[in-house]
Amino acid sequence: MTVKIEFPCVVSIEPTSRCNLRCPLCYSGRGNAAGKADMPLKHYTRLIEEIGKLSSNISLVNYGEPFLHPHIFKMIRLAKDEGLRVSTASNFNLSMNCIRMIPTSGLDILTISLDGVTPESYRKYRIGGDFNVVIRNTKLLLESRRLRGTLKPTVVLQFIIMSHNQHEIKQFVALGKALGVDRLRFKTLNSRGMAVASKLMPEKQYCRKPQRKTKSITSVNCAWPQKSLVVNCDGTVVPCCNVGHDSKMVLGNAFSDSLAEIWRSENYQRFRKAFHLQLNLPHQCQECQSSWLEDPRRQAESINERLLREYSWEVNREDDLHFFNEKMRTILDE
Ligand code: SF4
Ligand code: SF4
Repeated sequence: MTVKIEFPCVVSIEPTSRCNLRCPLCYSGRGNAAGKADMPLKHYTRLIEEIGKLSSNISLVNYGEPFLHPHIFKMIRLAKDEGLRVSTASNFNLSMNCIRMIPTSGLDILTISLDGVTPESYRKYRIGGDFNVVIRNTKLLLESRRLRGTLKPTVVLQFIIMSHNQHEIKQFVALGKALGVDRLRFKTLNSRGMAVASKLMPEKQYCRKPQRKTKSITSVNCAWPQKSLVVNCDGTVVPCCNVGHDSKMVLGNAFSDSLAEIWRSENYQRFRKAFHLQLNLPHQCQECQSSWLEDPRRQAESINERLLREYSWEVNREDDLHFFNEKMRTILDE
């Protein structure tokens, strides 16, 4: 039988695992991202050449603050030279010099994390961050973009709904309007199975709804092994952004093998088959909140869309790179 597997539509590269903040649910923020390192430019250059042949989009983010990589602007330019649409995300606790370089970098989409409308609520999750710096930088970016006569990057202001900020949703929409950002996004909290998440969980109406109520129901559903690939800053390849640098979930190393080889490797096939057969699934997948949900992304999107509609903000999916890949190639016939 011939089985066709297409190159993943969601390809992310982690430029660095270093971060200037300490968010409690983040591997980097908790000091667990292996190595705390920057991806070497020579490996990145080879990777991006390969991705340019196989895909239309690249997301330059995973764990860590991408703009701390000393060559981040070169990385963006190299991806643009390969014809890729480039997105990234930032905590935006950055210098003004860095912000001024963004509009001419070629970056297509920038998501700015701002989970609060006051310094007090913001710093409860973004530990070590400064609300006023994020606001200053957002204004500066939009003004620099205007002065250069460009609409790039599209600026998305993102708000993770948590127990301490759920009452600020309406004010967040007002803040987004006042700043003049292009898009707003409300994101549901992903607990990643961490105990600390229980205090942060908002009311049920802002949470994705688990389909699997107890661990005795063993079915684990997940589409990520078929559609996503993440390259960590040390070259290790993992199937999704939920697993960080967990060595038990590493499916290859992109510094020594091509991504196409890794994608169709025995390791990856065995991993996909485990979901199909519901056998020998990694412990982390069995515990993963995403695997307990029926289409977690759809659920998260519907909460986002409901809130945007409620507060009269236009819903726009145009810039969703993750599920849009016009250049996606079939790379495997087996
Ligand atoms: S800002 Fe992002 S990368 Fe840094 S600790 Fe927080 S979630 Fe992690
Ligand atoms: S079950 Fe969770 S950890 Fe496993 S591949 Fe899916 S999203 Fe990743």
